[in-house]
Amino acid sequence: MKRGMAIVLVAPSGAGKGTLIGKLLADFPQFKLSVSSTTRGAREGEEHGVHYFFLKKEEFKSKIEKGDFIEWALVHDNYYGTSRDLIDECVASGDVVLLDIDVQGTDNVKKLFGNDSYAIFVAPPSYEILEQRLRDRGTDEDEVIELRLKNARSEMKRKNDYDYLLVNDDLETAYAELKSVVEQAIKG
Ligand code: 5GP
Repeated sequence: MKRGMAIVLVAPSGAGKGTLIGKLLADFPQFKLSVSSTTRGAREGEEHGVHYFFLKKEEFKSKIEKGDFIEWALVHDNYYGTSRDLIDECVASGDVVLLDIDVQGTDNVKKLFGNDSYAIFVAPPSYEILEQRLRDRGTDEDEVIELRLKNARSEMKRKNDYDYLLVNDDLETAYAELKSVVEQAIKG
């Protein structure tokens, strides 16, 4: 029987998690991607329902009350949450769902799904490189970058607390390692 599970990629902003997830989805087209909801504004090129469901704070709060999220957290001053439907369905039906969430969300997913979840911490090679990547990406205002850098320091303290620590120095090397770890995880 196929093994349904949640694979979580957790990392500070700028560690390259988004690119790694894109590569995984290309190599494992059977994987589903959990599209989170957030109260942060859409960045250029981001689409509602594809990158996130962009919600107003009141809409987000009403979903919390209805129990629509398996987990939600306040990250860099905005709310983010994972919808219950897709995750429950995938784990029950033997599908693999990929999650791109922060440390708080990952802790909750690990608690809820236990052995049916596998969490990979993606670390930048150094704090300086992380800062450089965030600035080069040019998607955020300086103030937002400062907040993300500050949060990165505390998130990095958690890097050894998950199932696997992946250091994203050279993208191709890191991806080859990630692919092999994921292949092992889904075999169980
Ligand atoms: P960004 O604003 O750069 O897209 O995401 C900021 C942070 O929020 C990232 O670490 C991302 O993984 C995290 N995040 C995105 N969606 C969720 C979610 O549904 N739950 C939690 N806990 N974190 C999320």
